Amino acid sequence: MGECPFCQIANKKLPSRVKFENQDYIAFEDINPKALTHILIIPKKHYGSVASLSVTDAAMVGNLVLLAQGIARDLGIDKSGYRLVFNSGNDAGTEVDHLHMHLLGGSRLNEIN
Ligand code: 5GP
Ligand code: ZN
Repeated sequence: MGECPFCQIANKKLPSRVKFENQDYIAFEDINPKALTHILIIPKKHYGSVASLSVTDAAMVGNLVLLAQGIARDLGIDKSGYRLVFNSGNDAGTEVDHLHMHLLGGSRLNEIN
């Protein structure tokens, strides 16, 4: 089996518009944005959905939230507000099986369902 699309983005085999990167994480623009600002923040290492995480992954997940905080500040949407989303499984419409957090903002978002 080949690498998943987000592993390929992490190792630059697939191009993306990178907004932040360090050794362990990369954040890039969603290819099909659902808000004016729509960034995906991922660990470079492949993890499945939230449903497959365990307590040893707690720091990694926490880092995603803290990275989002910094990226939102860098993009100037920290004051206007933003939403962080993890989809897990079919009912959430999950498309990509590599853990990712959506950072959405830049304009008034629809109410969550
Ligand atoms: P999910 O529904 O799995 O939580 O979200 C996956 C997101 O990844 C979707 O919003 C989709 O637009 C985005 N996406 C899927 N493939 C690619 C890709 O190759 N590049 C980028 N930048 N985004 C992608
Ligand atoms: Zn992957």
